Amino acid sequence: MDCPNFGQGLAITRRNPENSLPMIDKLFSLEGKRALVTGASRGIGRALAVGLAAAGADMAIAARRLDSLEETAEAIRAHGRKVVPVAMDVTQIATIRAAVATAAVSLGGLDILVNNAGVEQVSPSLDVEEALWDRIVDTNLKGAFFAAQSAARLMKRTGGVILNIASLTSERGIPTAVPYGSSKTGLLGATRALAAEWAPLGIRVNALAPGYFRTDLTEAFYQNEDWQKAMLGKIPLQRFGELDDLVGASIFLCSDASRYVTGVCLPVDGGTLAAL
Ligand code: NDP
Repeated sequence: MDCPNFGQGLAITRRNPENSLPMIDKLFSLEGKRALVTGASRGIGRALAVGLAAAGADMAIAARRLDSLEETAEAIRAHGRKVVPVAMDVTQIATIRAAVATAAVSLGGLDILVNNAGVEQVSPSLDVEEALWDRIVDTNLKGAFFAAQSAARLMKRTGGVILNIASLTSERGIPTAVPYGSSKTGLLGATRALAAEWAPLGIRVNALAPGYFRTDLTEAFYQNEDWQKAMLGKIPLQRFGELDDLVGASIFLCSDASRYVTGVCLPVDGGTLAAL
């Protein structure tokens, strides 16, 4: 049954078989957007940076050392996009502010920030030392907040999108991952509160929660076959994630396709959270 008001003002919803595909492409396109991805030297951050470039964005990419960003930069250039490597240690707020400013000046503005830089080290909670707590929480939570703040100070003039890389530990308690889980639960809390606070500025803030992906961060777990078997048993889609599995969801959350979505956390986990 036709609903007379549905799709009013949204050309995309009107039937026009000949040109509906270009309109859909436009909805997911990042052409003309300027994005910064932290922790882009390897793993998930590299995949997301290259994925956003493939969708049309010019990119600033950040890690602690500029030389670690060369491979990511090369992959972005191969998509014909501009790339600006910047040095940033997210535990040092001054370097966050300097890198965000350099990115914005070099790209002519900033529309998208992906807060991906993160660290993890499991430990029985009875043995957690203050230094371990500080390293994990300062990197994953404090760093992400101040990067978001630096970006939002620029985006408040034009609007923008912030995507925080959360985790299954944002939603569930995982033994021996308490500093990490606390940082990622905090990051989800910040995502929701900033989404509410910055919506009037035209800034959307969302999170993406990867399930199990093999990277430097998680390699030690994958060395253990019993762990692999146990984890696979918890993933309804019956395989570990591949980095490219994260690209479509991140393009969705960074593009106009999600223009009415803010304050959510999208799990990309093969169904793990749904079944836990
Ligand atoms: P990697 O260890 O492969 O990459 C981590 C990235 O973070 C690197 O680029 C590293 O850059 C950067 N980084 C670490 N510390 C700092 C710092 N102090 N300042 C700036 N950059 C820093 O990890 P993943 O790709 O696996 O993880 C990326 C994100 O995804 C993290 O937030 C992680 O918590 C999250 N995640 C990962 C999952 C997985 O299964 N792999 C699951 C759920 C969430 P460099 O060392 O070169 O400076």
